[in-house]
Amino acid sequence: MEPHGRGGRAFAGHGWRDRHAARRHGAGHRGGRERPPLRRRGGGDRAGPLRRLGERLLHRQPAYLLFDSRIEQRFAPPLYPPIRAGSVAALARQLDLDPATLEETVRTFNAAIRPGATPLDSRTVGLAPDKSRLAQPLATPPFGAIPMRPGITSTNQGVRVDRRTRILTTAGVPLPGLYAAGVVMAPNILGRGYLAGGAMTIGAVFGRIAGREAAAHALA
Ligand SMILES: Cc1cc2nc3c(=O)[nH]c(=O)nc-3n(C[C@H](O)[C@H](O)[C@H](O)COP(=O)(O)OP(=O)(O)OC[C@H]3O[C@@H](n4cnc5c(N)ncnc54)[C@H](O)[C@@H]3O)c2cc1C
Repeated sequence: MEPHGRGGRAFAGHGWRDRHAARRHGAGHRGGRERPPLRRRGGGDRAGPLRRLGERLLHRQPAYLLFDSRIEQRFAPPLYPPIRAGSVAALARQLDLDPATLEETVRTFNAAIRPGATPLDSRTVGLAPDKSRLAQPLATPPFGAIPMRPGITSTNQGVRVDRRTRILTTAGVPLPGLYAAGVVMAPNILGRGYLAGGAMTIGAVFGRIAGREAAAHALA
């Protein structure tokens, strides 16, 4: 599940680090302002950088979500405890990263932060890519890391259904006795992009409708 913290995104202030300890992307890209639309209907692939990052992570290297103890207090406890250390260099050694590079990456990230009126408005300037919100310094030990792996939440492709969740042919005709619920029909609701929590909601809501319709069909 997506980690959410009290009153907002859980991982405020973090940045991904790749195996070479360099920052690759900030928090908030998923559902945040800096997230590009994944794919436009009838249009081209707009997810180039994100997709390339995913491919690299999938095939070659893990990424690490980094935070300090102050940030960690703001998010709900994760299912698996993070890797923790008393300093950035010690954390790097635990992650099998180059300590000097990770220290430099964290230093650069911290120096690039421009605080806003609220933590939500804090951003970085001069990084590539910059973090557009929730930029918090990693400064208060112990420091923590969570290994990250890419996952597919949905493909934005699926079958067409009507209000009763009956699967429709390309001609718009319901196929008798065939119903769909969940991600396989989610594009009927979401259209494009992704709404956090929406996938489970769609599964629950339309699963109930599909179950009721299938039962009625069987009993008819
Ligand atoms: C890392 C991750 C985080 C996510 N976080 C969130 C979140 O925070 N909020 C949210 O709303 N959604 C989230 N999602 C998405 C959400 O988990 C899915 O959209 C949801 O589980 C889809 O439910 P589903 O029943 O449609 O499909 P699935 O859960 O994929 O169920 C399909 C089932 O069909 C079975 N199956 C497949 N083929 C066959 C076959 N031929 N015969 C029999 N059985 C078959 C599969 O084994 C599976 O059990 C997340 C997904 C991922 C991967």
